[in-house]
Amino acid sequence: MQKIQNINKIFNLLRQELSRYQLPQISREKWKEVNQTPFTTLVSCILSLRTKDNITDKASVKLLKNHDSPEKILLLSEDKIGSLIYPVGFYKTKAKKIKEISKIILEKYGGEVPADFDELLTLPGVGRKTANIVMVYGHKKEGYLPIDTHCHRIPNRLGWVTTKNPEQTEIALKAVLPKNYWSEFNSLFVLFGQKICVPISPLCSKCPIENYCQKIGVKNHR
Ligand code: SF4
Repeated sequence: MQKIQNINKIFNLLRQELSRYQLPQISREKWKEVNQTPFTTLVSCILSLRTKDNITDKASVKLLKNHDSPEKILLLSEDKIGSLIYPVGFYKTKAKKIKEISKIILEKYGGEVPADFDELLTLPGVGRKTANIVMVYGHKKEGYLPIDTHCHRIPNRLGWVTTKNPEQTEIALKAVLPKNYWSEFNSLFVLFGQKICVPISPLCSKCPIENYCQKIGVKNHR
């Protein structure tokens, strides 16, 4: 399959435009207060599902600042975890999952989050996006491509892929995006999706890569 044209130029334009904003995931405020490890990355990612970033960040700090390992999490009751992470979406279910995951990591993996993508997928509540994020931001491994809603929407608008869901986008994008861009792709495109190529009525007039975009499926823009 043909690789994306002008990719170096496109990444440079995005880096330049987005450098004035704070990068998501890897450099948010929470990581100044919480030790970023594969375990804290995993728990924080679970908290982030269907939850706004600012709420995720506050909940991550409240829970993980003093409980940054499976051993410490297991000292807490499910109710206590729930009260610390409230009001993240599905906080009761997430409290239960975080305890279950901590127990498995302690008993099956000696307290270390596995650095194996397929093993991560066997943990309760862990899907491809979370597993990819743990591999990239927790274990600092290359060769993984975390795809969230922004990373799915924007490549479809650009015309890079034609896919229906993030799982399909991960596969399709890996075929057309050169590997040396994979590690940076998530943080750059999440930020781009929050600030410019927003879900409804994107800010195309302010977009640094408008000349390279096919605007597929974009009915209204500003
Ligand atoms: S031109 Fe518009 S739709 Fe295309 S990437 Fe930029 S903001 Fe998104």
